[in-house]
Amino acid sequence: SKRTGKNQIKEFEEESRQQILRTVEIEKALAQALDRSEFSLVYQPKVSLTQNRLEGVEALLRWHHPVLGHVGPDEFIPIAENTGLIHQIGTWVLRESCLAWVRWQKTGVKPFTLSVNVSPLQFAREDFVDTLQATLDATGMDPMFLELEVTESSMLSYEQSTREKLAQLHQFGIMISLDDFGTGYSSFRQLRELPVQVLKIDRSFIVNLFTDRNQEAIVRSMIQLGHNLGMKVLMEGVETSDQLEWLLNEQCDYVQGYYFSRPLREKEVVKHVKSVTTY
Ligand code: C2E
Ligand code: CA
Ligand code: CA
Ligand code: CA
Repeated sequence: SKRTGKNQIKEFEEESRQQILRTVEIEKALAQALDRSEFSLVYQPKVSLTQNRLEGVEALLRWHHPVLGHVGPDEFIPIAENTGLIHQIGTWVLRESCLAWVRWQKTGVKPFTLSVNVSPLQFAREDFVDTLQATLDATGMDPMFLELEVTESSMLSYEQSTREKLAQLHQFGIMISLDDFGTGYSSFRQLRELPVQVLKIDRSFIVNLFTDRNQEAIVRSMIQLGHNLGMKVLMEGVETSDQLEWLLNEQCDYVQGYYFSRPLREKEVVKHVKSVTTY
């Protein structure tokens, strides 16, 4: 009826008003978050199925604000990108995670890979490689153990400068993995030309693996596509032994997810590495 229609519009207006207020609040708080040391990092293990061992860890950003509480990266990263703060935040993440990696090495554990998420905006900056080089120098991070996770949108503008950057990173020995694969729009041709070593299939693809009739065929094709292009394939968001068994059978190279481990604090990583010899 007319009345419910009007109410719905009101509700909608109220909702978007709340949404805008929250965004503004987060924007303001974010601007001070670095100075106030409100960020921290957690690290989620990546498991190699072919070698049955820990392959590395992915650094994931956490933010705790005294009033807003915990705000998830899915909510604040887009805002940081809109305000340009992502550059400072991204540099901080890279530096802190490299320092953590160096500290892990000092405990005598066998070296493993550190994966760091890079926003398309960060990657697009002209000084991206210089900033990275400076961070490697300052922290003592071994680039052979560093992997950058970039999304398809970073690669879509596959122009000269992107090519040059990727070539430089490759020279350093840094690996590139294509994050959130399957959610973007890269063509087969673009994929073939991309110098990435790992395809990271988005978590949304495993959620309905056994409930949606076509899902198995789709994920199987993605794994084969990666292999045909000479890449390794990682499935993220693995939560059950059924999923793991299926992926083993399909020759998926790496997995990540709550089934193996949630993201861990820096100190917990060493304990985890020492406690698990096989998965
Ligand atoms: P992502 O890079 O695709 O990271 C995977 C997300 O899935 C993480 O959420 C992780 O905690 C979560 N996850 C891992 N295993 C499972 C599982 O088995 N089940 C479920 N339900 N979830 C799982 P998180 O930490 O909230 O991060 C969300 C997104 O925020 C990331 O997605 C990434 O796009 C972005 N992000 C996080 N840290 C950074 C960062 O340092 N820099 C940038 N640019 N983006 C970041
Ligand atoms: Ca990622
Ligand atoms: Ca992902
Ligand atoms: Ca994602």
